[in-house]
Parts: sequence; structure tokens; C-alpha cells
Amino acid sequence: MEALIDAHGRPITDLRVSVTDRCNFRCRYCMPAEGMPWLDRSDLLSFEEIARLVALLARLGITDVRLTGGEPLARREFPRLVSMLRPIEGIRDLSVTTNGYLLERDARALVEAGIDRINVSIDSLARDRFHEVTRRDALPQVLRGLEAIAAFERVRPIKVNAVAMRDFTEDEVFRFCELARSTDYQVRFIEFMPLDGDRAWTADQVLTGDEVRALIEARHPLEALPREPHATARVYRFRDGGGEIGFINPVSEPFCADCNRIRLTADGELRTCLFSIRETDLRAPLRAGADDAELERILRDAVWRKELKHRVNEPGFVAPPRTMSAIGG
Ligand code: SAM
Ligand code: SF4
Repeated sequence: MEALIDAHGRPITDLRVSVTDRCNFRCRYCMPAEGMPWLDRSDLLSFEEIARLVALLARLGITDVRLTGGEPLARREFPRLVSMLRPIEGIRDLSVTTNGYLLERDARALVEAGIDRINVSIDSLARDRFHEVTRRDALPQVLRGLEAIAAFERVRPIKVNAVAMRDFTEDEVFRFCELARSTDYQVRFIEFMPLDGDRAWTADQVLTGDEVRALIEARHPLEALPREPHATARVYRFRDGGGEIGFINPVSEPFCADCNRIRLTADGELRTCLFSIRETDLRAPLRAGADDAELERILRDAVWRKELKHRVNEPGFVAPPRTMSAIGG
């Protein structure tokens, strides 16, 4: 079967699936403290609907699937979805991005369901500052979750993602270095993007990957590792041999040119860019009884029109109406 490709010649092999827009945290860079409108349950794709779309996309060349949200573990019976996607032919890499709050409860079920990898989002390793940024006093529970999943050696690599924000993350950098140097977790700093629920993002709040790297280099010299194709992170190792650290720089160093990614929202909209203004409804045709050929036509057509690049750094940039938790980061 002909691979999925966009009009700029980029083959699409990576799918992010948001399984819920809800979350048990309220991270400042993602959601407002209150008043977030939720999708109705009936608007969410069922596990069967998600599995059908993933199977179809796998036949069109998708090999990597990441489950996210909102908080994916907050969706009831989430490990059952993992076990439904695992046997789909062609899916080489099945991973989850979570805030870790329910990971202690679900680690074993996720491993038994067949996840390959996990990313845990942690923005601070100091309990009060973690509370400040997530609006939940939950660091000890998240760290227990991280340990619970790390106990399963087949779930590797384990990545810890921190959003880098000016006047906040500078004080976290060395704690994260110690975590990276004392475990086999890969810690990655992600630049703050204009997808926050409060719409308070300004460019000066972005602490760039280069700035974080300069802080680290002053204490721990780093050496760049070769960049893997389509990798969003630039990964370095500590020259003295103590672990790895990565930088995801979508704002200061966009990686759109070899982007191979599409997204499916919890309510069944296909998004061809994190910053898409336009979406393609898949739920309506699914529920109207569309056959695979019809869905394939819709998917190919949407992918063909994938945006050339995001325009965060350009004058007149318009943030998408959906914010990060509703897109599926
Ligand atoms: N709730 C899960 C979690 O936090 O890992 C999964 C969904 S969350 C939207 C996915 C990732 O997006 C997290 O690593 C989070 O830190 C990141 N994120 C959310 N809002 C962001 C923003 N405005 N800029 C950069 N990253 C953001
Ligand atoms: Fe929830 Fe993840 Fe958004 Fe934080 S970043 S509010 S944990 S969806």
C-alpha cells in the first residue's frame, strides 16, 4: 500500500492519540485553574473506534503510536486500550505520556498490556515548586509512579520531560542533572509553547534549550549525540559518562522540515500540526458507517494538506483554538 505522504514530501509514520481531554492536574502552562469546558463522554472516541483508526493508519505506514491526553491514565480502563492496540500489525513502538500521578496504580497493568516506553512529565523536583506549577501537591506520588514503572526493565527508555520556563526552571536544572546522572532516565527540557489555557504565553517566558544547555555546560561538559531522523530532541551525554540529557526546542529551533507526525484528538479530529487551525473530523464518518476505503481517502487528503511549518515566531501568529490538554501533547 502506498505510504501516507504530505504535499511537501514528508512521509507520516508517527501518530499521537489523545484519549481524554480531562486531567487530574492543572499545570499553569497547559490548563486554567478552573473553568475548563470538558467534552461529553459521548463525544469521545470509544476504544473500538480508536483501535479501528490506528489499525487503518498502521496499514498506511504509521509505526509509532503515543497515547496521551489530558491525562491518559485518568481515562477509565486505559490499559485495556493499550492491550487492544498492541497486536495491531505494523505498530513498532507503543508509548504513553503521563503526569505519573496514577502510575503507581497502573504500572503493572500497562506493562502487561504491552507498552514499550513511557514519558513522565515532571517540571520540578522540589515539592513546593512542583505544587506551584501543577497546582497539585503530588511530587512524592509521581516519583513513586516513576519508580514503579522503572522497576520493569523492558520498559525503556524512560524519559522525564520538564517544560522550561524563564525564572522558574533555572533553579531546577541541576536537580534534573542529578536525576539524569544517577538513573538511566533521559531527562529532556521542552520549550514553553503558546498552547496554554490561560493564554498568558509570551516569548520572553521561553527559556530556550540553548540557555538551559549553557547553564549545564558551566558545571557538566556535554557532548552531542548524533541526531536520529525525525527526533524532536537534541540529545547530549555528560562527558564524564554520567547519563544523557535532551532538549526539545520547538520555539527556538523548529523541527518542522522533517516532521513525520499527525495527531488524533479525543473527540476524533485529525490534526496535522500541533498548531493546526484546521482539523478533519473522523468521528462523524466513523459513526455514519464509512468503510475503510472512505476513511483512507479522508486521511490521505488531510495528510496531504499538512502545514509546511508552524509560525510561532512570525508576526501575526494565531494560536489554535484548542489548548495543549485538548489537543494531546
Ligand atoms: N498529562 C500528560 C502529561 O502531562 O504528561 C499528557 C498530556 S500533556 C498535554 C503532554 C506534554 O505536553 C507534557 O509533557 C506537558 O508538560 C507538555 N505541555 C503542556 N503544555 C505545554 C506548553 N504550553 N508548552 C510546552 N509543553 C507543554
Ligand atoms: Fe494535565 Fe498534562 Fe496538561 Fe499538566 S500538562 S494539566 S498533567 S494534561
